[in-house]
Amino acid sequence: MNKLLPTSTAGSLPKPIWLAEPETLWSPWKLDGAALHDGKQDALCLALHEQQQAGIDIVSDGEQSRQHFVTTFIEHLAGVDFQQRQTVRIRNRYDASVPTVVGPVSRTKPVFVEDAKFLRSQTTQPIKWALPGPMTMIDTLYDAHYQSRKELAFEFAKILNEEAHELAAAGVDIIQFDEPAFNVFFDEVNDWGIAALERAIEGLPCETAVHICYGYGIKANTDWKKTLGSEWRQYEEIFPKLQQSNIDIISLECHNSRVPLELLALIRGKKVMVGAIDVANHAIETPEEVAATLRQALQFVDADKLYPCTNCGMAPLPREVARGKLQALQAGAELVRRELRGAAE
Ligand SMILES: [Zn+2]
Repeated sequence: MNKLLPTSTAGSLPKPIWLAEPETLWSPWKLDGAALHDGKQDALCLALHEQQQAGIDIVSDGEQSRQHFVTTFIEHLAGVDFQQRQTVRIRNRYDASVPTVVGPVSRTKPVFVEDAKFLRSQTTQPIKWALPGPMTMIDTLYDAHYQSRKELAFEFAKILNEEAHELAAAGVDIIQFDEPAFNVFFDEVNDWGIAALERAIEGLPCETAVHICYGYGIKANTDWKKTLGSEWRQYEEIFPKLQQSNIDIISLECHNSRVPLELLALIRGKKVMVGAIDVANHAIETPEEVAATLRQALQFVDADKLYPCTNCGMAPLPREVARGKLQALQAGAELVRRELRGAAE
């Protein structure tokens, strides 16, 4: 990006009311068949339009074609039985009924490639596409086949790599892997999690990002955050190894969080998507609040490597709130751009 402080979102945006029930995760589709296919494309166009209206620089599909950031990808794979369900604890935080891995996993056909081509046909702006990360995928399943988290993660990494190569060929500029599990399983992240992620990005011609957050603004996550104390130092456990990795961009939760921003110094040299929008409450940030978070981050991230972003996806928010937050993000980034330009003159 040539533009200073290019803005983007972590990924998801609210869906229109005619496509799925708003403010709900895993909300069932209201359409089916051909109408659902067309409806998803129309929703993608609306999500793109809202980003463009707000002046967002790196745009996405707003994840309009998926019900959930992990499950929808897994649904397209062979080796996973969605009828056979087990209750497991997700990220050591909440129980969920999940599908079972019953045999070797494989990608029998592309998952998001057609959607990415469609987004590419709608804009000449840089586009970012989100995929689940291998560690977060294994944490959302019951594994009755490999019975090894590491082995299954590397199988998924191989599959993600195939998908990512096709997304890059479709014209995606940045492929982002969502790894909220990196904020929980530190020993595994350092032992094999980052290695699995590097397997997923092997040989990619485009830029790559990893998104590590404290989760959507749902109750299980906000309750968990209350137990984390006055300083959230989770990032500190994994930053040294991430700094050494081949990942280009690291996307983080910063605004309204208790993450001490000096931790960003540990990933010096990487591009950082700085979360300057809180997705866990409905209050729309002022541009000045966004700017304050960005200024703080600038103490630890070089200006040419700072990408203002949201803390996480905005799917569970009311649409007008998400729209306001997009505008605040852009306006706050513009305040800081002006200061940086002024300082350079
Ligand atoms: Zn997130």
